[in-house]
Order: sequence, then structure tokens, then C-alpha cells
Amino acid sequence: MTRPRRVAVIGSGPSGIYAADALVSQSEVPVSVDVIDRLPVPFGLVRYGVAPDHMSIRSVRDTLNKVLDKPGVRFIGNLEIGSDVSVADLHAYFDAIIFTYGASRDRRLGIPGEDLDGSVAATDFVAWYCGHPDADRETFERLVPTATSAVVVGVGNVAVDVTRVLAKTVGELDHTDMPQHVLDTLGRSQVADIHLLGRRGPAQATFTTKELRELGELLDADVIVRPEDLAFDEASQAAIAQDKAIARNVEVIREWSTRTPTGKPRRVHVHFLARPVELRGDDRVREVVVERTELDGSGGVTGTGQLTAIPADLVVRSVGYRGTAIDSVPFDERGNVIPHADGRVQREGTTVAGEYVAGWIKRGPTGIIGTNKKDATATVASLLADAGALPAAAHPEPAAFDAFLAGRGIEVVPTAGWQSIDRAEQALGQSRGRDRTTIHDRAELLQQARSTG
Ligand code: NAP
Repeated sequence: MTRPRRVAVIGSGPSGIYAADALVSQSEVPVSVDVIDRLPVPFGLVRYGVAPDHMSIRSVRDTLNKVLDKPGVRFIGNLEIGSDVSVADLHAYFDAIIFTYGASRDRRLGIPGEDLDGSVAATDFVAWYCGHPDADRETFERLVPTATSAVVVGVGNVAVDVTRVLAKTVGELDHTDMPQHVLDTLGRSQVADIHLLGRRGPAQATFTTKELRELGELLDADVIVRPEDLAFDEASQAAIAQDKAIARNVEVIREWSTRTPTGKPRRVHVHFLARPVELRGDDRVREVVVERTELDGSGGVTGTGQLTAIPADLVVRSVGYRGTAIDSVPFDERGNVIPHADGRVQREGTTVAGEYVAGWIKRGPTGIIGTNKKDATATVASLLADAGALPAAAHPEPAAFDAFLAGRGIEVVPTAGWQSIDRAEQALGQSRGRDRTTIHDRAELLQQARSTG
């Protein structure tokens, strides 16, 4: 085959863009890549997951953006695989497909009352404050200004993000790219108490120290830890001794437990050994019933049967993300990932020719942004090793794919369209003294994409 290999990357979050970069940054096998996203804009969780006040982490978008500008790479937004076009369709236009569409759904708690009004998934709350086009604006504009006590379930970095956003003043968020309507709603928040619930002990929490520390440095919120929650069994002591990151987390929490509240208008209560067993309420959630747990000596916990209730008119369930299946692609329903061997998609133990996987939909929702670079590069190495044996596309010319999409009447957002959105967001932000303001409305994003001049 003398022509470049055509590769479709499904998903334009970090793993997708790192995969595209790895494909075009080598010279052994000429490759032309289309990075496809169901949204009109790229960057996945860098845009719609990383907290807007974490400006330096969000700035990774500048690095990702440069990849979309590289020769041999095209962005194709507003194209959903599985509904607009099928994976079988893609095989006619691409020699290989890399699935990097991540894990966008929430995991469930599986307890009574979970679906009461006022109980929301962190995935939805984060999507709202980041300005995701599919966010349920009406729900958050109703819930946030009327809540006084919030419970955030889970002690991972997403739970810490959600807690911080709820605890910060609007002045602490005003410089971010949050949509103005989000800032306005957070400005009307009455939330005074935020309870972060860890079902295991401080040595088992999955947050990272830098993120954790920020909770103790908020302008308008005291952080409160009860000394009796600082429980450590032998497994915890061993974890602290062996893992510096765990030791640092514990040190921060220990210091917090010695603090006396200073009377700030908001309080962040960090609880450990507290497992939610029921959400109770009427027309809206009113309290979370929590069972005290105790460490079982091997990193887990057992229930003690001792129950307490924490008042809550907003519950944010932050217990992890979950991947979902698309179209005909094999899917492991237990692990919520696409089964693979070295990044090659597997169907019942056999490699599916021309299909690859990288990122959270390959390994589950773990790791930092940089983890996806290594992961995507490993998958691309498998693809390049297979380059001579890929099933050849019937219509490998990029123009043939464009004509196919146009024939279906699908209005995609090409790289130039995204660049136009990018300029419009910067102009909108600058008109308010900020670097950028996220445009949240899908119709407006598409409108901006059309005005590429
Ligand atoms: P996570 O780190 O896996 O945290 C999930 C939390 O939910 C854990 O505390 C877990 O407790 C708890 N949980 C799970 N099931 C539960 C249940 N039934 N009842 C009570 N608690 C339950 O996931 P995440 O916070 O969603 O973050 C996803 C990934 O993105 C992580 O790798 C994270 O580090 C990364 N991330 C990084 C940043 C950053 O670097 N700033 C920001 C956001 C996200 P157990 O441990 O007991 O299961």
C-alpha cells in the first residue's frame, strides 16, 4: 500500500489527541487521521471535566490544540458514531479505527432514594459548571440557589473538585471560563455546609494532596475533620509507610483535625468511615443516612450498624465514571471497557481487524491526563506494527468521507469551524476581562462554527 493509512480516532479528549499525535509524529508509516467527536468542540474532559478554576491543568488544551493543526490531522466535530454513522460505515473510509471515547456515565450508588430530586451525579454537575451542551441547566439553576446543606459522596479528585466549586465564592471563580449563567447561579447559592463522605479511612482515599490542600485554603469556608475519623489499622499504617502520596494526604487531614473553625460562612466537613445507606426526603432529598464503618485490616471496611443522618438538600454522587458500549463494538459489561490485547480490540478472544482502543474506555476511569499519553502511544505502536495487514478501506480519500457525510446531510464541524468557535470564546471572555468564556449552547456553537471567515 503506497497511500497513507487512513485512521479514524473516535473521541477528541486527551487519549484521542495523543493517539493522533503519535500517529503523525512518526515517519515509518505515512498516516492521515480524522479525529471525530460527537460534540462540536474538541478536548473531552479537558474542556468538560477538569475544573475551570484549575487553569494550569486546563491549559493542556493549548498543547492538544497544536496537534489538531498538524499536517495529516483533521478534526471532525458534531458527528456521533453509532447514530449519525455506524462503525461499519467507517470501515469503508478508514483502514483503522481507534476508540478513545472515554467513560462519560456515572456509576450508581445502588441505595434507596438515589433518584430523589436533589440527588445528582457528579458527572452531570461537572458538565453543568463546565458549560457542556447537554447539561441540564434548568435542574441546577433550581437546585443550587435553594440548597443549604450539600453531601458529596466519594473522596476522589472529582468529589474534591465539586466540593471546592460549591465552597468557593464567585470572586474566586470569576476569572475562569465558566459560562456567565453558571457564575450567576453559583452566586445565588445558599449552601453553607458541604459534607464530603469517604466510606473508608483517610489512608484509603483516592484524592491527591495538591487537590486536597486547596480545600483548606478557601476564602469563605472552614474545613472540619473530626479527630475520631482519623482511624488507621495495620493496613493503613503500612500504606502510609510505603506510599509518600498517602502519607502527605494523611498529614494534611491530621492538620485539619486540629483546626478550630474560624466562623467563615461556609463549612467543608470531611468525613471518613461514613458509608451512605439511604437518601431520605419528600419532594426533594432532605437527608443522607450514613452508616459508620470500621477498617477490616486489609484496606476494606465493614459496617457497624451505627446510623446517623446528615441534613442534605443537595446530594452529589461522585463515585466514579463508567464507560458505555457503542454500536457493534465489543464491550465488557462487567468492567465497562472495550476488551483488548495491547490496544487491539478483542471479540471473544479474537482480534477485530482494524479496531483499536485507548484511554478510559480501554483501561477504566483512572489516572491523570498524562497517563493517557503513554496509553495512547502504546496502542498506536500496536496499530503501526499491524500497518501492513490492516483491512484496506474501499474509499480512503478524505474527500470521499466528506462527500459521504454531506450526502447523509450531516453538518460536521471541521478544524476551521472549531477555530472559529475558539476565537469567539476568547472574544466573549475578553469582553468581560477574562481569557475566555465557554459557549455552552450547541446551536450557538454550530452558528460560530459556520462563520469561519
Ligand atoms: P475515584 O478516584 O475512583 O473516586 C471515586 C470515589 O468514590 C472513591 O472515594 C470511592 O471509594 C468512592 N465510592 C465508589 N463507590 C462508592 C459507594 N458505593 N459508596 C461510597 N463511596 C463510593 O474517581 P473520580 O474522583 O471520579 O476520578 C476519576 C479519575 O480522574 C481519577 O483518576 C482522578 O484522579 C482523576 N481526576 C484528576 C483530577 C486532578 O488531577 N485534579 C481531577 C478530577 C479527576 P472507594 O475508594 O472506597 O471505592
